[in-house]
Amino acid sequence: MTVFNFSAGPAVLPVPVLLKAQSELLNYQGSGQSVLELSHRSALFETILNETESLLRELLEVPDGYHVLFLQGGATLQFSMLPLNLATNQHLIDFIDTGSWSQKAIQDAQVYAKTRIIASSASNLYRSIPTDPVVSDADYLHITWNNTLEGTTYTHVPQVDVPLVADFSSSILSEPIDISQFDLIYAGAQKNLGSAGMTLVIIKDDLLERTPALLGSYLRYDTHATHHSLYNTPPTYSIYLTKLVLEWIKEQGFETVVRRNRQQAAALYTYLDQSTLFSNAVALTDRSRMNIPFTTGQTDLDEQFLKFAERNQLVNLKGHRSVGGMRASLYNAMPTSGVDALLDALHRFEQGER
Ligand SMILES: *Cc1c(COP(=O)(O)O)cnc(C)c1O
Repeated sequence: MTVFNFSAGPAVLPVPVLLKAQSELLNYQGSGQSVLELSHRSALFETILNETESLLRELLEVPDGYHVLFLQGGATLQFSMLPLNLATNQHLIDFIDTGSWSQKAIQDAQVYAKTRIIASSASNLYRSIPTDPVVSDADYLHITWNNTLEGTTYTHVPQVDVPLVADFSSSILSEPIDISQFDLIYAGAQKNLGSAGMTLVIIKDDLLERTPALLGSYLRYDTHATHHSLYNTPPTYSIYLTKLVLEWIKEQGFETVVRRNRQQAAALYTYLDQSTLFSNAVALTDRSRMNIPFTTGQTDLDEQFLKFAERNQLVNLKGHRSVGGMRASLYNAMPTSGVDALLDALHRFEQGER
């Protein structure tokens, strides 16, 4: 059975990527070995790693002076690695609080350093991104670029004189990023890059010098930079899948993917805004193109819609329990036919079909 998977993560992968992975599963490039079985020290795997990095550098236009690292532990481990490596001068970190992933990052940072929330959209139920200029004199400022649960996104990079660190887990490679405006960005792979298990970190070289002497090897950015993400066994298969996803993006052209994302999100928001049954409460200027929450405003009706959607092969549309309602995640791999099918189901439900 084919379904359209609107999960927030792990999420839909491009069918051509899955087919390629399948065709290479048992015998990778004539080696007689599966990618799953390759030594991380083998020439074949080193080529996979190098190609993944160079595709990322090309598609994201990573400037010189940055290291690209492939780590484990999810975005969540970064919530600890960041303070451990970077909050080493004043032991003070500034945050802009834009929702539940910001708060998770703050919670972990508090274990290691002082934290300060210098702007927040909490009073607006996180339905927007704070826009007032911010001033920071902390060791760094942390922001959450795309807020996966609340469905908001930054559209402008906050300008501060301290290093800027951003969590791009749910929007990496969905649109161009001016990496030069950031000092560190990170993203778990299971939303827009590939499968769970790998976390991408792009770090400006000068930050590598901040790591204190007393910190275990895996937790140090400088370890991974020096060893080209091969200090220990990296998440080999997840890196390989990311390579296939990046090749899939490059084949179509990154602009094509970006345009498709914009069109898909615009189509859904246009529908929601004219609907008399469904709505999205996020400020118009701050709406995410990747994660779109919506609701009828009535729990039982939302439940009915979710069941109706499932009967129509539209799965994983349930909103996060803290937000409720529905959420459609429209990552790069969501085909436009999936969004069309969702629009059709929304329309028919609104017309009274059950
Ligand atoms: C999913 C997500 C995380 C957590 O990622 P893990 O890989 O599960 O640790 C962190 N931040 C954002 C913005 C996310 O969407």
